[in-house]
Amino acid sequence: MAELIFSGVSRLFDGIPALNGIDARIAAGEFVALLGPSGCGKTTLLRLTAGFEAPDAGEITLGGQVLARVGGPFVPPEDRNIGIVFQSYALWPHMTVARNVAYPLEVRRIAAPERRRRVAEALALTGLSAFADRAPAQLSGGQRQRVALARCLVAEPRAVLLDEPLANLDLALRATMQDAFAAFHRRTGATMLYVTHDQTEALALADRVAVMQDGRIRQFAAPEVLYDRPQDCFVAGFVGDGAVIPLRVAGPLTPAGILVHALGQQIEARATDARPTHLCIRPEQVAIDGAGPIRARVSACTYQGGRFRLVLDAGGESLVTHGGQRARIGEELRLSIRHPWAFRDPDTQPVGLPGMAAQTAR
Ligand code: ATP
Repeated sequence: MAELIFSGVSRLFDGIPALNGIDARIAAGEFVALLGPSGCGKTTLLRLTAGFEAPDAGEITLGGQVLARVGGPFVPPEDRNIGIVFQSYALWPHMTVARNVAYPLEVRRIAAPERRRRVAEALALTGLSAFADRAPAQLSGGQRQRVALARCLVAEPRAVLLDEPLANLDLALRATMQDAFAAFHRRTGATMLYVTHDQTEALALADRVAVMQDGRIRQFAAPEVLYDRPQDCFVAGFVGDGAVIPLRVAGPLTPAGILVHALGQQIEARATDARPTHLCIRPEQVAIDGAGPIRARVSACTYQGGRFRLVLDAGGESLVTHGGQRARIGEELRLSIRHPWAFRDPDTQPVGLPGMAAQTAR
């Protein structure tokens, strides 16, 4: 397995950038998810890696080999040794499961005994040994996707690209297949690039997630870092549940972070930047507390299995929290906010509030 590096990669369609200067380094054996809304460029990045498209700027290397560079080498897809799994399984309907899996080895003229050994191994790894002689039509969607994974694996690729591989499956099967992918990654140590617009899937599976918007990577970090310490408003709003609230000003730095003014209160927030512009408040940081300083009204209450999700209006700002009991719409609650994350959105200028801004500049 090999390290995959994107340096300044751009791709234009009709003069409009689908990818705009992508820089990312994916370590050998790392599982990376590309997460972002429809049209942000996820599939285009995968297609460039596979060699179905060429970049208009920049360079892609895999294991030290230049796969594509503008004005330089371009390795065709068939010579990249990269495995690809699509959401449509692309299996041969007239071949058995074992033949489908063996196909890449037949194309490479691998001798029959080795072929049989590698196919048996790939089927065992994907839990399909009992289905070797079935036709794809006799399998469930999840089983077909595992055949596609086994067929990709058998060729011992240098990296594996997965394009929304679970999009066609129902919710329960998606959860099972997520476990299967995680186990597959643990056992093979494959370098994996996984495209999804489902944040639960990305956060659950990946070592690191690249959050994309408009052809750019907004933040590339471990799932818990994206959730706890988003870098800008887009990531704060796109990843996880909760609220993103503008700040009027940051106050003094404290040992725990910074005092900020929001929701009519001074709130102690965590921050690494002395001039934050926004607060990201996750549901678990909003406590319903009879003595709490913040007044809010319940504007929505939905059951989520074991708990209720409450949307609250606090002086015109919307907050989200979880409760153990159903709340009435319009009910007034008191809240306290514990250690939200304060960050500086690069697209927003910090604004000062007289009397509080003494220590905002470091
Ligand atoms: P989705 O989640 O909907 O699949 P995506 O993030 O994978 O979206 P891409 O398919 O990479 O997005 O598309 C990025 C942008 O490039 C979109 O605006 C899309 O319309 C455009 N685009 C992609 N392929 C082409 C093409 N062959 N010709 C013209 N425009 C294209």
